[in-house]
Amino acid sequence: MVLDRDKVSEVFKQLERYKSKDYSFSNGRILGSMCTEPHPIARGAYLKFLDVNLGDPGLFPGSKEMEMKLIEFTGKLFHIPKTATGLSVSGGTEGNITAIWIAKKLINGREMIIPKHVHFSFQKIASLMDIKLIPVDLTSDYTIDINSIRKHINSNTFAVVGVAGSTDLGVIDPISELSEICLEEHIFLHIDAAFGGFVIPFLENHLPFDFSLPGVSSLSVDFHKMGYSAIPLGILFLRDKNWLDEISVESTCISIKRQAGLLGTRSAGPIAAAYAVTQYLGYDGYRKIVEKCMETTRYAEEKIQSIGLSIIRKPILNILGVKLRNPSKVIEVLSRKGWKVGDMSHLSCIRIVVMPHVTKKVIDEFIPVLEEVCLEVGEI
Ligand SMILES: *Cc1c(COP(=O)(O)O)cnc(C)c1O
Repeated sequence: MVLDRDKVSEVFKQLERYKSKDYSFSNGRILGSMCTEPHPIARGAYLKFLDVNLGDPGLFPGSKEMEMKLIEFTGKLFHIPKTATGLSVSGGTEGNITAIWIAKKLINGREMIIPKHVHFSFQKIASLMDIKLIPVDLTSDYTIDINSIRKHINSNTFAVVGVAGSTDLGVIDPISELSEICLEEHIFLHIDAAFGGFVIPFLENHLPFDFSLPGVSSLSVDFHKMGYSAIPLGILFLRDKNWLDEISVESTCISIKRQAGLLGTRSAGPIAAAYAVTQYLGYDGYRKIVEKCMETTRYAEEKIQSIGLSIIRKPILNILGVKLRNPSKVIEVLSRKGWKVGDMSHLSCIRIVVMPHVTKKVIDEFIPVLEEVCLEVGEI
């Protein structure tokens, strides 16, 4: 097709105008997001697969093969057994929805036990599937209180959720203990590792949190967070591949007889991007990124304390909660100065997620601004 160059340039001018109003990762001023600018190799890979629909894999067997390789690479991080399978999803929300959809099909009941820090997607899940959420309090270190879980289990309980890298503070629930309880009680255990899935495996001396624990039924992880790839992609792993039968339907008019999962048409773009990033980085590349983010987190922690502020809890992952009396005020003034931090007013703090674009240089630029703002509004 021959394009009208003038029209193209006019349309792109419009696009530029919109984009220029956005905050960007490239200048490092987004400090409160779990996303980042994808690894440079992701862009070309994404575009190459712009026209591939993996909802209809019979037409795109090569792309399907690439998807399976990506799932295999990722599954090794979580010690998936031979019986397991993985399903591409659009992210943590869809991963959680799909896991609980399966759990509900496998086990009778409508009560689900969740730690109070679960991601808000569980409210959608409760609404979609008519589930009663049973929130469990957190201990003083902000993880689920194991001792009170058993009290909440009854014949109506079908699932428990453990978070490996909470959205708020990046803490990890005691998954081993959850695994034991769920195994004993014959309850489905879903691990939400949307953020932590690409961090925890690369930390030294981390506790087991994945399929190495026999009670873990499913685990989901996001590629568009610490997977350093493009939006939207996550993978949901299931201990038993036969569980997919629970959520598959007969599909007409496409190249396969049955389709499992929530989405129909879905792009191979994010899968190609993630495949490219994983092949380029390898496990070692990810480890280096995580080490760097953790080092910058410790650096930021010191700098924050040096201006008279304190953190809510020693960071486990690359997330910091900075205690403030009036977080909304600080957020508002920082935003006016071009800096975006996360709002955690419910914990009386702001969230800084030390993603790969948040370098020491960015922290050095940010700290004087934070100090100035905090002095201005009377926090320090
Ligand atoms: C980000 C996040 C989600 C939601 O993932 P999306 O990709 O935004 O759908 C779910 N759980 C946790 C723990 C998260 O951090």
